[in-house]
Amino acid sequence: MAEEKVDWKKKYRELTQELEQQERKSADVESQLRQLASYLTVALEGESPQFDTELSQLKPLLQKACMEHLSALKQTTKRVEKQVKSRVEVKDKQAQEVVAALLKWVRMLRTQVQSSGAQNILDSLETRSHDINDKIYGLPGLLDDLIELQSHVESGSESDGSFEKSDFSLENTASTDALGDEVRILLKHIGTELLELISGLSVPKEDTPDARELVQRIERGFELPHLPEIVHLVVQLVIKSTSNTSDDFENYLLELSSRLTEVQTFVVDSRQEQQEIGQNQRELDQQVRQDVKQLHHTVKNTNDIKDLKNAVSFQLSGLMRAMDSFKKKEEERESRLQGRYEDLISKVDEMEQETRKVKAHMEEERLRARTDPLTGLPNRAAYDEYIVQEYERWSRYRTAFTVVVADLDLFKSVNDNFGHLAGDKVLRLVAKVITKNIRVTDFVARYGGEEFVIILPSTSVTEAVQAMNKLRLSLAKSPFNFHGKPVGITMSFGVTEIKEGDSLEEAFNRADAALYQAKEDGRNLVRAN
Ligand code: GH3
Ligand code: MG
Ligand code: MG
Repeated sequence: MAEEKVDWKKKYRELTQELEQQERKSADVESQLRQLASYLTVALEGESPQFDTELSQLKPLLQKACMEHLSALKQTTKRVEKQVKSRVEVKDKQAQEVVAALLKWVRMLRTQVQSSGAQNILDSLETRSHDINDKIYGLPGLLDDLIELQSHVESGSESDGSFEKSDFSLENTASTDALGDEVRILLKHIGTELLELISGLSVPKEDTPDARELVQRIERGFELPHLPEIVHLVVQLVIKSTSNTSDDFENYLLELSSRLTEVQTFVVDSRQEQQEIGQNQRELDQQVRQDVKQLHHTVKNTNDIKDLKNAVSFQLSGLMRAMDSFKKKEEERESRLQGRYEDLISKVDEMEQETRKVKAHMEEERLRARTDPLTGLPNRAAYDEYIVQEYERWSRYRTAFTVVVADLDLFKSVNDNFGHLAGDKVLRLVAKVITKNIRVTDFVARYGGEEFVIILPSTSVTEAVQAMNKLRLSLAKSPFNFHGKPVGITMSFGVTEIKEGDSLEEAFNRADAALYQAKEDGRNLVRAN
């Protein structure tokens, strides 16, 4: 029994010692943990005001053994747990915002650089920006690189040999060119319209060299400042070429001038807008420079990652605001310009339609001016135009033609016996008979009074004499009646072929002489010369 008693005592002592040892170890662990927690509270300071309040309450608790204030510690832990959860959410959101801002910056830089080298650098900066989400410590390095790139853009300089001046530039040359293109297209369009207008004119001989020069000038293309002068010259040419200008036509010309003035005003305004873009860009440029300088300063002078993060967040959002306002201004300007441009295009379209109408009208006028109203045949002016072309063709290709001058016999007596109205009716019928008896390729004009000229292309004198005899017989046989009374009608013809060395006048005079001969020989005859 005594032995057993000793054993119990010994066991108790051993257990007590073991317990004491464990208690000492626990106290050590607790002390270590409290110390660690104290350090962490210091590290977490400044996250948020609520968090700071909790930490300030936690600090004194951590200085004493936990057992002494277990329930206070439990409550604080619960509250801190809540704070930590909400802090994690806020931090995630902030990190995403920082990443978004960085990506926006990278995108902005992309629009300002051209070379593939610079684009590659931007590719890597983009990847690093994405990584900032969970590696915030990469921010200072990334900012440094972005700032460096931005300063290249600003100066357009080549400091380390990897960037070309043209890689980085805030000047938006593309939009300047776009406007230039628009103007060029518009001017070309107007040029085509004007050429179309000129092509419908029958320009007087004395103005032909000027007209040719004007056409060449328009064809070569002209600059905007010369538009009013060109329009003025075209209008002058139109006025000179149209003998009886109608009110309609004059109105059209006035309209044309004012439309084209509008075009010019639009382009001048657009240039002004262009300058505004420049101003807008300069403002953005200045803003970016300032923000970047500030960022540079922050990155250099802030050691604390939290402060850095907040400052950068703040400055990046400033930068984003500047970019947003720039974009907004640009969009407003663009839609304003687009509206006016569309308006202008529809006006130019209207002008096109007007031009077409006026051309048709001019064509009508031209035809009227070349038509004899009594017989509907081409008149002397039309003959003059036709014969010049025929003569030029003959000079160039030796395509022979025959000239016939025909005159009604003793027509005066028709007027005298039957009256002037009867004479007119006879002239109309004679015109029909002639037209019926010649080929479609032949040309006939009422040269004046009761005299007609017929041109027979690719026809020899012999053939022409034959054809005219046929016509002569046909006329003589025609039953001309006036108020039931037969009116005897005959015609005399003088024929000649164009010959080497002939002028038009010489050929015509020869035909006229042949006609005289036919009259001399007794009328109702065909004579050749
Ligand atoms: P010849 O055979 O020598 O040609 O004799 P002619 O009477 O035809 O010649 P002349 O030149 O003496 O007279 C031409 C006449 O033609 C004079 C004019 O009364 C007539 N005449 C000319 N134009 C017109 C016209 O438009 N209408 C009418 N009714 N007569 C016209
Ligand atoms: Mg006659
Ligand atoms: Mg006559």
